[in-house]
Amino acid sequence: ARAQIGVTGLAVMGRNLARNFARHGYTVAVHNRSFDRARSLVAEHGGEGDFVLSESMADFVASLERPRKVVVMVKAGAATDAVIDELVPLLEDGDIVVDAGNAHFSDTIRRERALRDHGLHFVGTGVSGGEEGALNGPSIMPGGTRESYESLGPLLEEISAKVDGVPCCTYVGPGGAGHFVKMVHNGIEYADMQLIAEAYDLLRRGLGASAAEIGEIFAEWNRGDLESFLIETTADVLRHVDAATGQAFVDVVLDQAEQKGTGRWTVKNGLDLGVPITGIAEATFARALSGSVPQRTAGAGLPAHTREWEVKDREAFVEDVRLALYASKVVAYSQGFDQIAAASAENGWGIDRGAMARIWRGGCIIRARFLDRITEAYERDAGLPLLLADPYFTEAVAGGLASWRRVVAGAAGSGVPVPAFSSSLAYYDGVRARRLPAALVQAQRDFFGAHTYKRVDRDGTFHTDWSGDRTETEV
Ligand code: NDP
Repeated sequence: ARAQIGVTGLAVMGRNLARNFARHGYTVAVHNRSFDRARSLVAEHGGEGDFVLSESMADFVASLERPRKVVVMVKAGAATDAVIDELVPLLEDGDIVVDAGNAHFSDTIRRERALRDHGLHFVGTGVSGGEEGALNGPSIMPGGTRESYESLGPLLEEISAKVDGVPCCTYVGPGGAGHFVKMVHNGIEYADMQLIAEAYDLLRRGLGASAAEIGEIFAEWNRGDLESFLIETTADVLRHVDAATGQAFVDVVLDQAEQKGTGRWTVKNGLDLGVPITGIAEATFARALSGSVPQRTAGAGLPAHTREWEVKDREAFVEDVRLALYASKVVAYSQGFDQIAAASAENGWGIDRGAMARIWRGGCIIRARFLDRITEAYERDAGLPLLLADPYFTEAVAGGLASWRRVVAGAAGSGVPVPAFSSSLAYYDGVRARRLPAALVQAQRDFFGAHTYKRVDRDGTFHTDWSGDRTETEV
């Protein structure tokens, strides 16, 4: 036994992760259900490091140093269970199985329990950054036991992305914590992309500018607070010209956004936990609306009653949109971190939100300069109940409030759909309101369903006899 780490499942992701380990000087055992993939990996990239090729799972396991560390990188779902079932009888006490695929965190909780009963560590790990990240340094979000992280962590940290010399990998928490955090990361990615798309639409319609001109604006934004992978790629995409037609590439792409499902998972979980992640939800539903072809076809002729959006000062308008985007983005992240806090409390995961923002700074899709500010906010107050209430973000958002309101009002007036911008502003106004009309909702619930209510002036639970003499009783 001489390999320090093994990877089974050598499609794009597993192959690149294995190469990443090898390039960092580790001896990597490689295995794949169909041997061809394993063989071709070694044939094509064997020179990059030290690989141990095995055709059978038994040989693969036998080639690993103890405690064995096996990274499973197969299709999420049944395939993962099949591979685990094959692995378990071959492993021994204290060995570590790492699921680096995109598992739902509830599957991870189930698998972790089952493997614990076999004396094995199961580490459900979020990996972000796609194939490029897997090869050159992804953001890695490992869950599982702390004990497993002691021997596994250093390897994962070594192959992860680095920002200012700091690895984009840290221990997240037990059970399903790693995959949960990865899920919310993806949800935030949905919100971020939708907000960028809305900003683009506003600029395009407001300025009557070409895609390439808007691309220049994004490139400029990428030099400020908004600096991030997604803003940078937006600038690139908008400036790209379609070779076949000579048109702006974005203008020849069908406007129906698809999804693989992690946004949906995040939204469903937000509903389960009762955490208002409106930014992520609006983004997920915006994709759904774009793909609702019969509805869009039937709706295409609906009256608009809009007024022309007159942009008198182009620079001021661009700055308004930039500030509205920044503020909406803070809301989306604030909500996502609330979701992490709620799940962490419910499951006893003890997730350090500042550390999560730190490991998202590199390697992953939502990497951004402003994540440093989020880490600082949670360092100031680990239990911060609302990211927006951190002094830095309060001030940053306050500086853009007038712009944000102008943009949302202008969009409504001229008929530009900005669901994520406007719902984020509604969230902001809701969370800062000293009194909400939820009082009326409670009163109505008591009226027709005797669901009871609480009072502002004394403790207790009350019901009013609405169908009788309307006397109030304490229940
Ligand atoms: P795929 O999701 O396409 O999965 C293909 C791999 O799974 C192959 O190695 C295949 O083996 C193996 N496999 C499928 N079914 C079984 C089975 N029943 N038993 C054993 N092996 C099986 O590969 P990717 O590399 O795209 O992704 C791997 C994982 O990483 C997935 O969970 C994915 O969600 C996740 N992920 C992907 C990202 C991406 O950008 N692609 C980013 C982050 C995570 P065979 O060659 O024999 O068919």
